[in-house]
Amino acid sequence: MEKPAITVQHWMLHRFRTICSATMVSAIAMAIPSSILLVGFSLTGLLFSTSFQPSLMFVFVLVFTLIFPLIIVTFDAIRKMKALVEQVKDVIKYDGLTRVLSRSYFLDLVRGSHQDGYVLIVDADNFKRINDSYGHGVGDAVLVELALSIEWGAGPLGRVGRLGGEEFGVFLPDVSGSLALKLADDIRARVARHPVIVDGAEINLTVSIGAAPYANGHLLRTALSAADRNLFRAKERGRNTVVFDHASQDLEDEALVLRVVR
Ligand code: GH3
Ligand code: MG
Ligand code: MG
Repeated sequence: MEKPAITVQHWMLHRFRTICSATMVSAIAMAIPSSILLVGFSLTGLLFSTSFQPSLMFVFVLVFTLIFPLIIVTFDAIRKMKALVEQVKDVIKYDGLTRVLSRSYFLDLVRGSHQDGYVLIVDADNFKRINDSYGHGVGDAVLVELALSIEWGAGPLGRVGRLGGEEFGVFLPDVSGSLALKLADDIRARVARHPVIVDGAEINLTVSIGAAPYANGHLLRTALSAADRNLFRAKERGRNTVVFDHASQDLEDEALVLRVVR
């Protein structure tokens, strides 16, 4: 069963409430022993000091019972808020399951890269069947392995994001069409060649890949639509296939469509 979606706002609110209640508990916890100590000091002062000054004693009580715990609590809250900010950044930047980039972060990164390149859309073939045969948990584990294979294939300069479900985006900056095609086919071939082993079960998986050139300054949406059209063609051609956009100038016509028969 699908987990209910938790928005970042819900999650932040929940964390904020946790921090507030933890802060209040710490404040009370610090104030009680401080008060006991200071009442003790006050009484000692009252009993033994001949020059007892109530106003000075009041200042001491105030400092120890309120300000000292407040300083500690404030530092603690700042530390927790910093950790929270890091966690929120992590949630925004990475996909929770596969740990590749999240959809929005990936798209922003491509737009902000100011580099030409190629975008690939990599979609797992017949993934529903894997869920139906082995269960959703195994399906999740297969997606994690798939993401690793895609990251491997994209190389050190390639960026990988999860566009949604069993679909991943890859941005290959500053590569020629023929290199982008080779990298895409490496990903396809690697996934097809290496079954994923989950709980002792050997699961065969293939991917279809649609690709298109992306020119810096142009709409990323247009490049993604072209890649998506090519993905559709790859599915039509029987899956386990890479289809490139015809705009790739440096590719021979016969290299535009790659199909490897299983
Ligand atoms: P096609 O080759 O045409 O892409 O077929 P498909 O079965 O992969 O595509 P379809 O769109 O019919 O089904 C996608 C499946 O992917 C259904 C959905 O439950 C599954 N899926 C999407 N996200 C996740 C996920 O996070 N975990 C798991 N286990 N399954 C997921
Ligand atoms: Mg699919
Ligand atoms: Mg899909």
